[in-house]
Amino acid sequence: MSKLPLLLLLLSGAVSAAEPWADLDAQISQALPGVIKLRHAIHQQPELGNREFHTSERIAQRLRELGLEVQTGIAHTGVIGILRGGKPGPVVAIRAELDALPLTEQTGLPYASTVRTQDEGGDFRSRGKEVGVMHACGHDAHMAMALGVAEVLAAHRDQLPGTLKLIFQPAEEGPPLGEQGGAQLMINEGALQNPAPAVIFGIHVTAGTAGTFTLSRQRTTAAADTFVAHIVGRQTHAAFPWTGIDPVPVAAQVILAWQTIASRQSNLSLLPAPVISVGRIEAGDRHNIIPAEVRLEGSIRTVSDEQREDVLQRMTRTAEKIAEASGASAKVDYLPGNYRAGYNNTALVDQLMPVLQQVSTTPVRIDNGTYGADDFAEYARQVPGIFMRMGVTPPALEGKTVWPTHSPGFQVDDPTLAVGIRALSRMTLSYMASGGSAE
Ligand SMILES: [Zn+2]
Ligand SMILES: [Zn+2]
Repeated sequence: MSKLPLLLLLLSGAVSAAEPWADLDAQISQALPGVIKLRHAIHQQPELGNREFHTSERIAQRLRELGLEVQTGIAHTGVIGILRGGKPGPVVAIRAELDALPLTEQTGLPYASTVRTQDEGGDFRSRGKEVGVMHACGHDAHMAMALGVAEVLAAHRDQLPGTLKLIFQPAEEGPPLGEQGGAQLMINEGALQNPAPAVIFGIHVTAGTAGTFTLSRQRTTAAADTFVAHIVGRQTHAAFPWTGIDPVPVAAQVILAWQTIASRQSNLSLLPAPVISVGRIEAGDRHNIIPAEVRLEGSIRTVSDEQREDVLQRMTRTAEKIAEASGASAKVDYLPGNYRAGYNNTALVDQLMPVLQQVSTTPVRIDNGTYGADDFAEYARQVPGIFMRMGVTPPALEGKTVWPTHSPGFQVDDPTLAVGIRALSRMTLSYMASGGSAE
């Protein structure tokens, strides 16, 4: 499609949407105190992945109050709310996440979480340990904003030219050990059917200037794979290493050689480099005993399926061959439950960018995506999607220590929730008014 018809389409969409929704901003301001109150309540009662029982109940109750059709129990604790507009039009989905993180909150806020629980998380070492629980990834803000959108759009549902589908998903941060969960399970259990959305939107809050949107026209989040490597030698006395096989220098060689996959073996003119990080090294019991084995654990970030396959193969080959050169052996395992790379639909981004620019209080930033991972990618592989990040650092904290998401000091600026609600509502209305033109 050339630029001109697209522009006309956008303008006609804006005009026809303008009448019933002229007071949308005022409505959002009116809804904001309730939205903030709800976020604080959710924040005070955080729950870990696949265990979001109270959160899920709270969401379902609110959706019913707003007059939406509600489905519960999807992918364990998932909830879907459907708002059928009075006029025909496309189905627009918005995704929010229900889960919090095993982290002890240190914000000192009046509504800070004091919840503690038994960790059942993805790492066997933390299993069974008592941990704090905190909405340190801002999923409480995502839920509150989604409910804010439902509230303002439900107020004029007879004028709504389409259907809004709100997907509240459990376990974005990963399910407990041995369980399935998250976006893929939601999709397997029908989240993208009956009705099938034409497009899907998601906002992720992040540390940064409040109300500033950052998004990519294509690549959004990276694939994240966790690996465990065992480098096996033969144990012996530290004074006589030649009587055994020392796996420690072998592990050191492997770690350094892996870095050359990014710097020497990847075609950097085609794609951003992969990231290979060893986060944990474990070996030995005593200073004068050469250990039998070194265990390495880490995270791999890649930006496409092809790059992912390529990097995993190279890592395995590198470890095995380097170990073999010293008479040791190596085995690299990639753990299940990993994240695939995510993409925005470029045509959809181009279609809705003017809307986003209009609602944004600061210039919208376009980037090439992040090495962070999010299972929103799974929905956006099924239907055209837009995943964007929104800065939410309270202005009073700007210029001080940055507490990112996943840190115990992460904070969300409450008034900025209005910016997110405005963006999601306006994008929804604009897309519905356009009759659904992105493919
Ligand atoms: Zn997170
Ligand atoms: Zn998150």
